[in-house]
Amino acid sequence: MKRFHRVFVGLGSNLEDPINQLDTAIDSLQRTPEVSVLAVSGYYRSSPVGPQDQDDFINAVVELSTSLEPEALLTALQAIEHQQGRVRERHWGPRTLDLDILYYEGITRDTDTLSIPHPRLTERAFVLIPLYDLAPELVIAGQPMEHWLEKTDDQTVEHLSL
Ligand code: AMP
Repeated sequence: MKRFHRVFVGLGSNLEDPINQLDTAIDSLQRTPEVSVLAVSGYYRSSPVGPQDQDDFINAVVELSTSLEPEALLTALQAIEHQQGRVRERHWGPRTLDLDILYYEGITRDTDTLSIPHPRLTERAFVLIPLYDLAPELVIAGQPMEHWLEKTDDQTVEHLSL
């Protein structure tokens, strides 16, 4: 019998109608075999990390239930990024869609292609805040969510009313 795992995936976009990019990606996730979208966080706007000569990012987090193993899930996420025409122009540069596995229940990974929990999760309010919407009880790297939120409370993240 297949086992289903609870997973949180982060979405980000700052090109070509970012809100629509996130909506489309969530639809695609819902249509991915062996993946169900259980919950969607609010949508948030934040200033770019790195080069400042680009538009603000829109970010959100989704909770999934999936029987895909982490590597297969990453492949599915990358297929959705490509479908939405992601062009990787430069590191930390603008992008139509970025999908990251933030947390995968019961799994840690540290390989060339996959780090779980996502290594920058604990440093970025634009990921922590939507994740907290869905899973305030999570413990990341031995610390509760509140610990990481306090450490990043100097970062401005605006909740969008859609
Ligand atoms: P990025 O530019 O942030 O989209 O980085 C993409 C690369 O990060 C991919 O080629 C993945 O192999 C790698 N990666 C490592 N850990 C993760 C993760 N938890 N979620 C998504 N991509 C990851």
